[in-house]
Amino acid sequence: MKTHTAEHTGPRRWNENLSMHMNEDSWEKTFTSLKNLCKETKLREFQFNLIHRIIVTKNKKELCRFGIKPEDDCLYCGEKDSVYHSFKDCRFVIYSDIEVIKWFNARKNSKFNPSIQEKLFGLDKNPHNKELVKKFNYTMLFMRYYIYGCKLHDKPIILGDFVNKLLLKYKIKKL
Ligand SMILES: [Zn+2]
Repeated sequence: MKTHTAEHTGPRRWNENLSMHMNEDSWEKTFTSLKNLCKETKLREFQFNLIHRIIVTKNKKELCRFGIKPEDDCLYCGEKDSVYHSFKDCRFVIYSDIEVIKWFNARKNSKFNPSIQEKLFGLDKNPHNKELVKKFNYTMLFMRYYIYGCKLHDKPIILGDFVNKLLLKYKIKKL
């Protein structure tokens, strides 16, 4: 049964925004690999909602959706906030991504250099690097989740703090 397809608004809008051409099957694959990637309900829900662009943010005491109240400014850079801004356009997010990828590559002696699309929705595995790609995809997902949590609670993004949390996750999940 195909329940989450490219026909849905979220995936279609991501396709438009990123000028990518992920078809129904590719999106289906993204959802399947998400299920294999982690068993943590909150992380899976978070990614599912991100794909469907229904991420909710808290602004003071009020709940609003990214992109629905365009007058909301980004906590980090002061530019107009939206789901795209929060997860791909904000310069603080871009910088954090670069640093985390550098950290990961140095640690694993790897050379990952993902596109925006791959950062958001995961790299494809091949039989030779299955475990490493899984770990990388988990790292990027956890990074987005961390940034989302910081923003929700008006906290700064601290890469050292993120790495500590991530290392704990690696240990628990035996990644
Ligand atoms: Zn920003």
